[in-house]
Amino acid sequence: MELKKIDEHRNIVEEIVPDSIASELEIEPGDEILSINGNHPKDIIDYKYLINDSFLTVDILKSDGEVWQFEIEKDFNEDLGIEFTNPLIDRAKRCSNKCIFCFIDQLPPNMRETLYFKDDDSRLSFLQGNFITLTNMSEEEIERIIKYHISPINISIHTTNPELRVKMLHNKNAGKAIEYLERFHQANLLVNCQIVSVPGVNDGAEMERTLRDLWKFSPSVNSVAIVPVGVTKYRNGLYDLCPYDGEQAGEIIDLVEGLQREFLNEGGTRFAFLSDEFYVLADREVPTEEEYEGYPQIENGVGLIRSFHEELVIALKDAKNVNVKKDITFVTGTLAEKFMNRVAEMVMEVYSQLEVKVVGIVNEFFGETITVAGLVTGGDIISQLKEHNTDVIIIPRSMLKQDEEIFLDDTRLEELEMILGKPVIVAEVDGYELTRILEEEICYE
Ligand code: SF4
Repeated sequence: MELKKIDEHRNIVEEIVPDSIASELEIEPGDEILSINGNHPKDIIDYKYLINDSFLTVDILKSDGEVWQFEIEKDFNEDLGIEFTNPLIDRAKRCSNKCIFCFIDQLPPNMRETLYFKDDDSRLSFLQGNFITLTNMSEEEIERIIKYHISPINISIHTTNPELRVKMLHNKNAGKAIEYLERFHQANLLVNCQIVSVPGVNDGAEMERTLRDLWKFSPSVNSVAIVPVGVTKYRNGLYDLCPYDGEQAGEIIDLVEGLQREFLNEGGTRFAFLSDEFYVLADREVPTEEEYEGYPQIENGVGLIRSFHEELVIALKDAKNVNVKKDITFVTGTLAEKFMNRVAEMVMEVYSQLEVKVVGIVNEFFGETITVAGLVTGGDIISQLKEHNTDVIIIPRSMLKQDEEIFLDDTRLEELEMILGKPVIVAEVDGYELTRILEEEICYE
């Protein structure tokens, strides 16, 4: 996840939740929390821990330089309703690994600086769902996670074979992960795991071992997502690895689905879930909605295709009559092109006035082996849609920065619209939103 450049170490208030304790006390954006019950919160974990009390004395530095003191009586777990400028209240911890599959190491030069930052911070896992490797943590930090019951915690485990983990992460501390998992399990912390699967390295028998080892920590380990390694054209001097082909993807599906059946019989959950990419590569149908068990790792690309499809089926049942004739183009990565063609057919069956085309953008920026929509750049869309005839273009939100309408190559959305001379609508991967956009933003009269 990309980090914002922010004012570190100070507890500056950015926003106050309406109708919260903080809004009643007239705490304002720009104020600084100096102490809570005499303690200066040194990071967000400290802050969350310190406000868990029924009586608080809070010292606040107002923007005019005055210090105000509040005596607060509240329910023990009640939040104050304060959002901070720097949600960590501290500098994010850098990762200390050199993973053989690291995507950041494979970025082209001259991208925006924040994209090269390698974070590996348990507080970001807790706050934003980032995955961490546990390799840069002191004993004190592990104890703090347990003591403050920080949960859920997302762990990039990759393998439970200690020697192989040391090799994959290029870090001598990487083998201790299983020990930490055991301690989190004892403390009843909820953990989600991720495996970046690398052909011939941690798949096959190693994958089976890893999933069986993690299963022993269920239900503390709640789910495991398996995603294929991403390989860009910028791998000069890096570990020699290849992306998955269709046959290898099929082998992983067979292995994981076999284990899912065992886990389901034994413990009532499939536990390990493969990202959509494996099914697309192997040219197989993605699992049913039921088989995704509530999509525990959809942010990891696990079940996005199925969830979108199911939403669209329901949303299209309530579709309104549309009399406006329009040519629409769905832009995606090459991975989802076939599926989006199905979506286009479903849409045209219901809205017969619409002509929907799909363009899967070939990723020239990172290399053709990168096929996901989230890594498509504005420059590639411009060069591949220059001659394309359409009334309107729809792109998925994942192509843009989280908090700004800008692509990974710094092309701005408005620039894209200006160069292509067409409106570009940004949509979540959400069947309901797609039908709303079609009816309310594109086909209104
Ligand atoms: S943990 Fe590994 S993959 Fe993640 S940023 Fe660090 S080196 Fe890259």
